[in-house]
Amino acid sequence: MPATPTFRTTTRHMLKESKTYASQTLMGGLSGFESPIGLDRRDRLSALKSGDIGFVHSWDINTSVDGPGTRMTVFMSGCPLRCQYCQNPDTWKMRDGKPVYLDAMIKKVDRYKDLFKATHGGITFSGGESMMQPAFVSRVFHAAKEMGVHTCLDTSGFLNTNYTDEMLEDIDLCLLDVKSGDEETYHKVTGGTLQPTIDFGQRLAKAGKKIWVRFVLVPGLTDSEENVENVAKICESFGDAVEHIDVLGFHQLGRPKWHELRIPYPLENQKGPNAATRERVANQFKDHGFTVY
Ligand code: SF4
Repeated sequence: MPATPTFRTTTRHMLKESKTYASQTLMGGLSGFESPIGLDRRDRLSALKSGDIGFVHSWDINTSVDGPGTRMTVFMSGCPLRCQYCQNPDTWKMRDGKPVYLDAMIKKVDRYKDLFKATHGGITFSGGESMMQPAFVSRVFHAAKEMGVHTCLDTSGFLNTNYTDEMLEDIDLCLLDVKSGDEETYHKVTGGTLQPTIDFGQRLAKAGKKIWVRFVLVPGLTDSEENVENVAKICESFGDAVEHIDVLGFHQLGRPKWHELRIPYPLENQKGPNAATRERVANQFKDHGFTVY
């Protein structure tokens, strides 16, 4: 079952941990989407590859959470990483999402386009991992751009090679998770490899796209001075593309989902960073010339 917006706490939402997220959201779940339930498995795979359908966990309308202005955020199902601090393990498996027609998604963007334009908002694809279904996401983005709607991709960048340069053209902004500054720590935190994130950020920069970097601060896991310095150096390699860095303090809002899904939770007793650590990390990024939120 899709979570309600109140509990939609992907890493991005740690950014808003001190705000009342529930009061900023409308809709939620998968209301308003017709599902292609008649397709057999082979047809579904073919439609997934072409982007005629996408597997979606849920969607909502929010303000100032997933990019500028009022936005429609679509949480895609499926993620290849297994971050220790994941707030939404219920999005990990693509098959747990609901197939949604491309046309239905584009119609939804069209319905809200005046609101997006009036608030300088737009559509954000998040997850799970938004780059796991590149055809669907990029086709919706292309339609959105034709309507004059701002587009934002929220991603770890781990699936860099899933995106062609042509697909990049319809992205206005990327919320890019740089989860650690070296391969060893990155693997420990996520189970994956760091280099694709660096490659994706550099491709975005080269294509003239804007990046908001997000870095989750977990005491004893990602907070060492050396790791933060390495993250800062990676951000420097993106040049002027980086508009700011969000330092997101770890919290335990996702713990009930791990329990509910009966997945062993590695950060069961983990505390969030204290004020001194937050300040030190923010200052490290500022010393590299970055704006930090
Ligand atoms: S990248 Fe995947 S595993 Fe990591 S926090 Fe996001 S959804 Fe969870």
